[in-house]
Amino acid sequence: MAEQLFANKVVLVTGGAGGIGRATALAFGEAGGRVVVSDVSPAGEETVAMITQAGGEAIFVQSDVSKEAQVEALVAKAVAAYGRLDCAFNNAGIEEESKPLADADEALFDRIISVNVKGAWLCMKHEIRQMLKQGGGAIVNTASVAGLVGAPLQPIYAASKHAVVGMTKTAAAEYGKAGIRINSVCPGVIRTPMMERALEREPRREKGIAKIHPIGRIGEAGEIAGAVLWLCSDAASFVTGHQMAVDGGLTCV
Ligand code: NAD
Repeated sequence: MAEQLFANKVVLVTGGAGGIGRATALAFGEAGGRVVVSDVSPAGEETVAMITQAGGEAIFVQSDVSKEAQVEALVAKAVAAYGRLDCAFNNAGIEEESKPLADADEALFDRIISVNVKGAWLCMKHEIRQMLKQGGGAIVNTASVAGLVGAPLQPIYAASKHAVVGMTKTAAAEYGKAGIRINSVCPGVIRTPMMERALEREPRREKGIAKIHPIGRIGEAGEIAGAVLWLCSDAASFVTGHQMAVDGGLTCV
């Protein structure tokens, strides 16, 4: 069992049914957190089973982050189950099939913005309301390297992740004095179901992907979890409004 850094802390993770969200929920569980796993997919139950089998504590709440009533109910259920909300990882997101900007369609634009931007906003809105009642908390949003630099053939996704970065900085400035720290994590390419789907669509890209990371490989979901736990921990008590690239050096060149 890892060091119990999050003993008795109540932690909410969205997009917790797989990939980065699942790995982070497991890491919080191992570190003693009481984890509220949420996802639009019922496979979030499997994440809860993995946490409890490892001796941790967790519940699953099915929720679509793009629907305000569902997000409000999610935070209420977390508080009803565990009494408070100390940390939140707003990680649910969807990707974009590779297409130049002029070829993308309006429905796709609306869907990506609805989940990636509106979803992060709704989650922060209801988490912050709860954290204000308690006198503090820590929030991490999943942005991306596509929130820091341009992402050719992913124009809408890049717009959505730049928006997450903008909201993170703004919310950090608004709620710093209230004891709520708000940061983003900006992953490079990480081996998750999202990445597997992208490679199924374009298998020829696989060789080039490792090469664009100076570290020479793609990342693992657990490597994002490590950064998220640190940002949520007291070790990061003076860190807010930061966009932490966890990208094998992708954005340093
Ligand atoms: P994933 O597809 O494996 O997991 C995303 C999860 O979000 C899924 O379980 C999905 O069901 C859930 N989800 C989708 N829409 C939802 C909604 N409306 N409400 C609630 N849950 C919803 O992807 P991942 O790679 O683990 O991505 C997690 C986050 O990391 C995303 O925000 C993604 O944009 C970001 N990201 C991923 C990479 C990468 O290379 N994998 C890189 C940078 C950023």
